[in-house]
Order: sequence, then structure tokens, then C-alpha cells
Amino acid sequence: MRKDLDLKDLEQRLKKRRERLAKARRPIDPVVLDQSRIGRLTRMDAMQQQAMSSAAARLAQMEESRINTALQRMADGDYGYCVQCEEEIAQKRLEADPSALTCIRCARSLEQ
Ligand SMILES: [Zn+2]
Repeated sequence: MRKDLDLKDLEQRLKKRRERLAKARRPIDPVVLDQSRIGRLTRMDAMQQQAMSSAAARLAQMEESRINTALQRMADGDYGYCVQCEEEIAQKRLEADPSALTCIRCARSLEQ
């Protein structure tokens, strides 16, 4: 258990963020393929928009599951330790993103 972290505050921020993500979650509109109503360009726009919003939805989903993991780790007393190397995650990093599950070094090596 990390004594240097304000766990109550971080927990509240995680829960608020999760609420906001849940509210933003909306079913994705199907692409309308009615040729008589919309032209080719508009249809491509619609498909591009759908691709973008499903990418955004996937990102939101990933963030939600990270938040759930972070909250679970808080309950287990494992919060604030990197899931990769088990080192402490910098306090500043957790304050910037309470859902961070890895230390900055592991995050960087995962990105490569
Ligand atoms: Zn690490």
C-alpha cells in the first residue's frame, strides 16, 4: 500500500471519469447506404465518421477497463505499483492519469 498517495482523491477521480465515459457511450449509428438519398461522397463521409467514432469508442472502452483495473488494484492494495515490473509508479504520473497501470519506463517500452 502506497502511503504517499491520496488514494481517496484518486479513487474519486477514477470513479468520476468512469461515470463520464459511461454517459458518453452511445450506440453507433449504422451507415446509411441509400443511394437514392445520398451521393457517393456523403456515403464515404458517413463511413469515415463511423470508423472514427468506433475508434473513439474502442479507446473509451480501453480507458474504462483500465479504470476498473485501477480501482480493483486499489481495493487489493496493489494500486500505484507497475503491473509490469512492480516498481512504484511516480506520484506525478498517477496524479496526471490515475488510471496509469505501468511506470513511465514500462509505458515507454510498451509503446515501442
Ligand atoms: Zn514498470
